[in-house]
Amino acid sequence: MSIDLKKYEISDEGRVSLKDFETEGGSGLSKKKTVNEHMPANIKKMADLQERLYSENRHALLVVLQAMDAAGKDGTIKHVMTGLNPQGTQVVSFKAPSSEELDHDYLWRINKALPRRGEIGIFNRSHYEDVLVARVHDLVKGSQLPEELVTPDIWKKRYRQIRDFERYLSENGVKVVKIFLHISRDEQRRRLLDRINQPEKNWKFNAGDIDERRYWDQYQKAYEHLLGSTSTPEAPWYVVPADKKWFARYLVSEIVLKALEEIDPQFPELSEKERAQLDECRAILEADGEANKEEQGEAAEKE
Ligand code: ATP
Ligand code: MG
Repeated sequence: MSIDLKKYEISDEGRVSLKDFETEGGSGLSKKKTVNEHMPANIKKMADLQERLYSENRHALLVVLQAMDAAGKDGTIKHVMTGLNPQGTQVVSFKAPSSEELDHDYLWRINKALPRRGEIGIFNRSHYEDVLVARVHDLVKGSQLPEELVTPDIWKKRYRQIRDFERYLSENGVKVVKIFLHISRDEQRRRLLDRINQPEKNWKFNAGDIDERRYWDQYQKAYEHLLGSTSTPEAPWYVVPADKKWFARYLVSEIVLKALEEIDPQFPELSEKERAQLDECRAILEADGEANKEEQGEAAEKE
């Protein structure tokens, strides 16, 4: 089954209001059928395309995942990426920058973590934190940035830098898709409570998430700004309704699948020389097999 992704996609700059995007999603779809049929079918298709991508070794796919706390980034990565070959997949989680990372520009650590050709890279948080948490908490003030560069238009400049960076990537064979898991404030509350109330989820609970929750509106605003300023045809954003985990995961699988289909990777074609070499190798192996059979036959006769 294929879903019309247009409804969730932002591929041009412009004003974005998150109120226009649902957090529920999945109406008209059967959960059971989606989980038991459509999802496994998508995973199989992704695995086939991944093998081509890997063998072709020319393009890379970068999936950027951003979300409020408890929106389900980890579970989405786990469910959507099962079935892919770990050899060609790389998940990188970005935490608060280390002192070494702070000694560099903000894209330095991002560059180092980019997927190689043939690989699918998943960013669990990304350079977008530098226009999100950095903006909400004004982290550029008091940072090591030269003071004269910390101007009121710094966020606008960063959006431009990010657009340029992502265009550079796409012009060099790295396809970028960006996914915002969009949950409602109330669903976040429920999930944080679950993490407190269910002992096997206690390890996920982070008291800091309660502090950050107080900045909900500021974060939503920061998201609206960045969605409106860094959505481009070559690196679109998708606003994925995330209140229902099964639907969010399915939609993300559709987005990744579409991106892989657009790359359209092909198994490498052999040159004539390589084909001739294969013929030679086949002849050697077959002759070896014949010799083996003869030896075994002689040995059996002797016994
Ligand atoms: P979980 O959903 O399991 O809590 P997480 O992605 O929130 O996973 P954490 O270790 O809880 O992982 O949080 C990472 C923290 O790092 C986030 O609070 C995020 O805002 C912060 N962070 C990431 N990048 C930056 C950055 N460039 N500057 C400042 N803080 C950052
Ligand atoms: Mg967290």
